[in-house]
Amino acid sequence: MGNNNGLSGRLIGAILIAGIGFLMYFMQVQENPVTGAKQHVSMSPDQEIRLGLQSAPAMTQKMGGEISSTDPHHMEVEKMGTFLVTHTVAKTSPWKFKFHVIADTKTINAFALPGGQIFITMGLLNKLQTEAQLAGVLSHEMGHVIERHASEQMAKSQLGQSLIMAVGVGASDPNHPGYAMDATMIASVVNQMMDLRYSRKDESEADMWGLKLMTQAGYNPKAMIQVMEILKAAGGQGHSVEMFQTHPNPDIRIKDINEYLKQHPPQDGLTDGKNLKDVFG
Ligand SMILES: [Zn+2]
Repeated sequence: MGNNNGLSGRLIGAILIAGIGFLMYFMQVQENPVTGAKQHVSMSPDQEIRLGLQSAPAMTQKMGGEISSTDPHHMEVEKMGTFLVTHTVAKTSPWKFKFHVIADTKTINAFALPGGQIFITMGLLNKLQTEAQLAGVLSHEMGHVIERHASEQMAKSQLGQSLIMAVGVGASDPNHPGYAMDATMIASVVNQMMDLRYSRKDESEADMWGLKLMTQAGYNPKAMIQVMEILKAAGGQGHSVEMFQTHPNPDIRIKDINEYLKQHPPQDGLTDGKNLKDVFG
């Protein structure tokens, strides 16, 4: 009988924590500084920038380290990134963009941390042929930052965390008080891993931002289709292509990009830029 009371007490606790989690998530609404859209995010832009800055070294290390800042690959990525920021609407955003090149040649990937820290692996850089393609990849990642996708994912995972914590409390054995803690910790690790996975809608939004930004900077947006083809071919060769994990069908993405280009025909005078082979030597 005492057991039953304990169980219902834990159940009420679990329901309370889950309720608070839901409430917090739905109360945290901010207007996006660039798009004006209402979003569920829990961090302020300043907090987001700080979190990105502080976690960038750990992220870099986890991915196997950065190449030297005097390497032509780094200089080209930094130059292109800076050009994109200063020649597009990204300039008017609060985000502090910074561009990193990860030394890993096997992994074909690009990603962004909240606040503007953007990473591209040597594996992906080696596959790209033109400056316009590089502009496409970096612009796509800048799109994730502008849309605050990582911050949205984190707000959702806080929701997930309070739900899982509630389950942990509900399942905890009073004789082993450490149990719920472990479940919470495991849940937070799982949540962190899930944070890196964007939804299909997020990927599509980032693609459209990519097209918009690269065009504003004077690059031919058709290069984005070439990027998709490159990623598709690399995926087929058994390489890991993280950029595609959340969006397994590149053909749908190519179709969406073509649709955008039909509605926003690229003006004359857009360039594919230099051949990267000539840039890197
Ligand atoms: Zn993406």
